[in-house]
Amino acid sequence: RAAGRGTWSIYHPEMSQMAAYRHWVEAELYGALQRDELSLHYQPKVLAATGETIGYEALLRWNHHQKGSIPPSEFIPVAEQCGLIQQIGDFVLRRVCEDLGKLPDHITVSANVSAAQFNRDGFVANLGRLLTETETRPERLEIEVTETLLIRNLAEVRRIMNGLRELGISLAIDDFGTGYSNLSTLSELRFNTLKIDKSFVDRLTESDDSASAMVASIVGMARSIDAGVVAEGVETQEQFTLLKAAGCTVMQGYLFGKPMPLSAIKARAGEARAT
Ligand code: C2E
Ligand code: CA
Ligand code: CA
Ligand code: CA
Repeated sequence: RAAGRGTWSIYHPEMSQMAAYRHWVEAELYGALQRDELSLHYQPKVLAATGETIGYEALLRWNHHQKGSIPPSEFIPVAEQCGLIQQIGDFVLRRVCEDLGKLPDHITVSANVSAAQFNRDGFVANLGRLLTETETRPERLEIEVTETLLIRNLAEVRRIMNGLRELGISLAIDDFGTGYSNLSTLSELRFNTLKIDKSFVDRLTESDDSASAMVASIVGMARSIDAGVVAEGVETQEQFTLLKAAGCTVMQGYLFGKPMPLSAIKARAGEARAT
């Protein structure tokens, strides 16, 4: 009993099950790319003032030929660990650019980019080529990165971000408020958008002043660095009202629309124009 209770042991049955599952995911992910099982869903971002859809976030979906749908929370970390995130990331950015060509020109799309993908040599140059090749206006593309990126090599991050900005792509910081970045780092890196993490939105109710104060402080921070604010995971009318009052101008969440395939959002856009 040298290893006490709560200590991870490689013989723990749950852990070996987890390891086996990760192993299975990794093996199947190679095939997923070949079998064309990956696709993108798009979730609307709406203007709080008018309800108008101004853009979408691209979210990866995996429909395994036997197991059916496997959520990104289960396969993205595995892909990051085994290096497949590079190929998967390339697939996502290419598909987003192709799909932008099928959407109205004022619509923007944001894509999630993992730290390993962002830090890979040639990321900016490859993206530049992709934009040219697909004839994508760079202003229509936004890249979402998480704060974990910023605790690594700041000089390197700054260099890549400057490169992306030179291309004309905008940059969003995802899940904002969950990490450690300070105002000076944020303003130095000149993010275009802060995305308020769902965990803050979840806590927003009339009776909880601390969550509202947190949102108000993020909105204030965004203003001071001249960035926009997007609230994610908005599910209720009450959250919407409180966020709007706190100065949040763009919202995303099930209240406005779930992530949907491209065909569904094209149909919606058509409807909106027809009415
Ligand atoms: P994320 O970037 O924070 O994406 C938001 C997640 O919240 C998505 O989960 C979305 O479907 C979900 N969501 C949106 N609105 C609501 C709501 O009102 N209520 C609830 N309960 N959930 C909502 P999803 O699609 O399962 O993605 C999970 C995470 O996987 C993403 O979190 C992102 O970190 C990662 N991910 C997804 N697609 C990609 C990708 O193409 N590349 C990379 N690197 N990561 C991705
Ligand atoms: Ca995101
Ligand atoms: Ca997020
Ligand atoms: Ca999140």
